Amino acid sequence: MRPFAYVKAADVDEAVRAATGPGVKFLGGGTNLVDLMREGIERPDTVVDVTGLPFDTIEELPSGGLRIGALVRNSALAADARVRTRYPMVSQALLSGASAQLRNMATVGGNLLQRTRCPYFYDHASACNKREPGAGCDALGGFNRSTAILGVSEHCIAAHPSDLCVALAALDAIVEVRGQDGTRRVPMADFHRLPGDTPDIETALAPGELVTAVELPPAPAAANSRYRKVRDRASYAFALVSVAAALEVRDGAITDVRLALGGVAPKPWRATEAERLLLGGPADEGAFRRAAEAELASATTRDGNAFKARLAVATITATLRELGGTAR
Ligand code: SF4
Repeated sequence: MRPFAYVKAADVDEAVRAATGPGVKFLGGGTNLVDLMREGIERPDTVVDVTGLPFDTIEELPSGGLRIGALVRNSALAADARVRTRYPMVSQALLSGASAQLRNMATVGGNLLQRTRCPYFYDHASACNKREPGAGCDALGGFNRSTAILGVSEHCIAAHPSDLCVALAALDAIVEVRGQDGTRRVPMADFHRLPGDTPDIETALAPGELVTAVELPPAPAAANSRYRKVRDRASYAFALVSVAAALEVRDGAITDVRLALGGVAPKPWRATEAERLLLGGPADEGAFRRAAEAELASATTRDGNAFKARLAVATITATLRELGGTAR
């Protein structure tokens, strides 16, 4: 590992001050950053340790939502009774990820900022636009079974790795960030970027901005929600396809539906077209399947990942059926 400066921030102002200038990384749980530093993918000049900041609580909001500090550990968030009751998809998403040991270390803020697991990103002998802008992308014609099929570009087809972020996207979460110019709130839909021709720029964070909290707005439909993850083995594996879904049905008609996908796009993918088609219509399997097929109609597939489009349709349909749809 190459040498770097280490700063233990005493408060948020000191953390933000220490992050001015290039080559600075914030350290939370370190479950992704330290791996990337060991591999020489991340090469910060300064690491600002923020683990001493008071961002480790989950608070009720007057609106009825929850405010989750960026340093809340994944295991603590998954176990929180309010989350399990009011937003079960969040708890299920967290528990489907990584291992118990990693969940005990990993933080909510770090989860938002974890980087792709595309194998070429980690291989210095391979061309990767995300690691080295302008180098090319060996995944395009290579081993691309795990890569994305929605929102991709010719510069990068890497899938976003987070489970939690898929649930946060479905719930219209708000990300609170703090920088030199104060605090701002970024809708989850705008927090992660699609690759375009700059796949190395993954979020809407300005240089030196620190994630301080995530807000979950009140969402009554989320009490009836589910996170379903399809992967190659039952634990400690990233999603081939995942679905975060919430469904509210009255008198046979869908009155609220939230749907987001993981494993299929470079960012947590809110399935807005499927939601549009479903809202107000019948809660039956035919409607679920038609909406899922419409969402996947714009997929750009390659030899290795073409199966994901069919798998996503089947997983969306099965998840909504489980939440209260009827067979037809
Ligand atoms: Fe790099 Fe993205 Fe291509 Fe993977 S898909 S090699 S991360 S540019």
